Amino acid sequence: MLQAGGDLSWSSLFKYAYGLQPARAQQGIAAVDVLQLDVSGRPQAWITTKEAAVIYASDGVAWTLGEACQVLRGGLQRITGLQSRIEVHPIIAVRGAVPSRAWRQAPALSNPKLFARDRHVCAYCGRGFHADDLTREHIVPTSRGGADSWMNCITACRPCNGRKADRLPEEARMSLMYLPYVPSLHEDMILRGRRILADQMEFLLASVPRSSRLHG
Ligand SMILES: [Zn+2]
Repeated sequence: MLQAGGDLSWSSLFKYAYGLQPARAQQGIAAVDVLQLDVSGRPQAWITTKEAAVIYASDGVAWTLGEACQVLRGGLQRITGLQSRIEVHPIIAVRGAVPSRAWRQAPALSNPKLFARDRHVCAYCGRGFHADDLTREHIVPTSRGGADSWMNCITACRPCNGRKADRLPEEARMSLMYLPYVPSLHEDMILRGRRILADQMEFLLASVPRSSRLHG
């Protein structure tokens, strides 16, 4: 996808980027993740600042959004005698073809993302829980043909999940306090993010439907 310019090989680029250190002024600040977009602005991944530096160093960055969030400094350049320096922005769009297949697929389902979608609230009793006390609940049990999908999965606390057991909600006389939905790609990036900067959240939320619980 990325074209390494000149005689730079991927291995030398990685060596270069991993030799970079945060500038003194930035030390002590928690590492941030960079939101990687394709050139048309669709989110692709969260990457580390060092992974972003590899893309900068290979001239793979098409455009950026937000104020530089980290400055990485490397060794002295042999020709100029200057210290190499890369300003990493919170959002970078990379050059290259758009992988359209990834864009059409629904985001992968995981427990942390499911719990985040449902705001750590049990769909049956409506109480909030720590992730350790929550389970992935299949509305139609898998033993009865229910899919392991965003639309058939909901967050439930352990007691509620145990009480419902291998039954449909109607059979267990338990009703859902909210409904499942498939997160959009932008929403998925929010659910996957660990430390989301204000610039990144603003960008992602702008494309999240108003109906999403993330706006709540
Ligand atoms: Zn519950």
